[in-house]
Amino acid sequence: MKKWIILGATGSIGTQTLDIVRKYPDEYNVIAFSLGRDLEKNIKLIEEFSPLAVCVRTEETKEILKEKYQNLIVYYGDEGLVNLACFQKEDKEVLLVVSVVGFIGMIPTAKAIEIGRDIALANKETLVVAGEIIMSLAKKHKVNIFPIDSEHSAIHQCLLGENKEDIKKIIITASGGSFRNLSREQLENVSISDALNHPNWKMGAKITIDSSTMMNKGFEVIEAHHLFDVPYEKITTIIHKESIIHSMVEFKDSSIKAQLGNADMHIPILYALSGGKRVEYNNELDLYRAKLSFNEMDFERYPCLKMAYAAAQKGNIFPTILNVSNDAAVNLFLEGKIKYLEIEKIIEEALEEAIEVEELTLDIILSTGRDIQEKIYKKYGRGL
Ligand code: MG
Repeated sequence: MKKWIILGATGSIGTQTLDIVRKYPDEYNVIAFSLGRDLEKNIKLIEEFSPLAVCVRTEETKEILKEKYQNLIVYYGDEGLVNLACFQKEDKEVLLVVSVVGFIGMIPTAKAIEIGRDIALANKETLVVAGEIIMSLAKKHKVNIFPIDSEHSAIHQCLLGENKEDIKKIIITASGGSFRNLSREQLENVSISDALNHPNWKMGAKITIDSSTMMNKGFEVIEAHHLFDVPYEKITTIIHKESIIHSMVEFKDSSIKAQLGNADMHIPILYALSGGKRVEYNNELDLYRAKLSFNEMDFERYPCLKMAYAAAQKGNIFPTILNVSNDAAVNLFLEGKIKYLEIEKIIEEALEEAIEVEELTLDIILSTGRDIQEKIYKKYGRGL
């Protein structure tokens, strides 16, 4: 029986992970998870899965749950997430699923790596802002990092049995997002609900916006660079509207390997959470109806992707600035405080003002990130 701890059980990936536990109750056991703000939903999940420990947002919620469940260990807040990530730390069978959103996810991930715990990673920020630190920690502690994202799961599978020196390029596919048929001019007045309407995947609000601006692809390029230790010059992106090919790798003999499947996150989640093993799951791709089309990536149409490549190449604190300014800008858009095209303006400005730091540490990343977000929010009259 595999044991999982899930950081972010109530988000999109967390929910689909729990679906898998429901489907295979004899094979997977969730021993602990962190929860969101909805108390009623939290209670439902606790009763359904009977975890040994949970982490909630506030001390107040902690007290309510302690009262209700005397045997349940309840943590709260950012520190609570670290305790949860390291829960039962002597147990080597436990896999940590990191599906919380936000760069705060890197801290519990780093702590879990330090105790030698394998990671199934869905939190993008961890590798975007702290890729080098996290990967060298993982190497030092001999920890496996299994990517949950469909693109990285595909690349991982394409690279099985291959030599890194033989890679000509990694080709990350992009659907184009919810506005792929609109011109730059038409983007001027798009609404929040238009943006949240993704053609292929059902995802959380933040990532749906990121996929429409192509920032999500930019993050995935950075993640791929760290996960597979391949230079940016060899990582390309391509528009593939159908989201059937989840990514490809071209080798030096011009042979290309691809991984195909329906756009169903349960498949890469299951693959990552079983540690790269094949588990029975039925959602067959109908090849007779599958169409594959490819278009060149348009960096003028998607300036966020261009900025992501530039920040990635610069390294240091720049990917952090890219990430946190995007985070803040997308939140402002989702709250109706800015227009869609202002998202890229905010990021551009933040990157222009950024100054390199002497030594990149998790603490510096955290404090710089918070400063930048505060500054952006303040400008638009919003608290942190
Ligand atoms: Mg993806």
